[in-house]
Amino acid sequence: MNVFKKIADGEIPAEIVYQDDHCVAFRDINPQAPVHILLIPRREIPSLARVEASDHPLLGHLLLKAAEVAKQEGLSETGYRVVINCGPDAGQEVPHLHLHILGGRRLGWPPG
Ligand code: AMP
Repeated sequence: MNVFKKIADGEIPAEIVYQDDHCVAFRDINPQAPVHILLIPRREIPSLARVEASDHPLLGHLLLKAAEVAKQEGLSETGYRVVINCGPDAGQEVPHLHLHILGGRRLGWPPG
């Protein structure tokens, strides 16, 4: 079982900022911005490359909740970035689909 699934199941601790039946949001252990939250589905999906048509409602749910969590963190006006790293070239480390929600400072573009 990967580390994010263990967080979703409550087997290892995390600073959870939102959760419901379908997803969990918690603070990144190594934040890259003043606000850095990870939003994951409870169901184990290894990466964005592995989603299926039946995941359509879940994917919509995740984006809606990303916006809600960003608002909860006070980022709606100043702005924020939502990132999904997919596969080795993007530097994906944890094989469980996750959205990074980053904000609280000016974010450079393009990313490295
Ligand atoms: P990625 O490179 O897109 O797979 O991102 C994985 C992220 O998970 C990194 O930003 C890590 O800092 C973060 N991370 C790894 N383990 C934990 C953990 N136990 N709790 C919170 N964040 C974690």
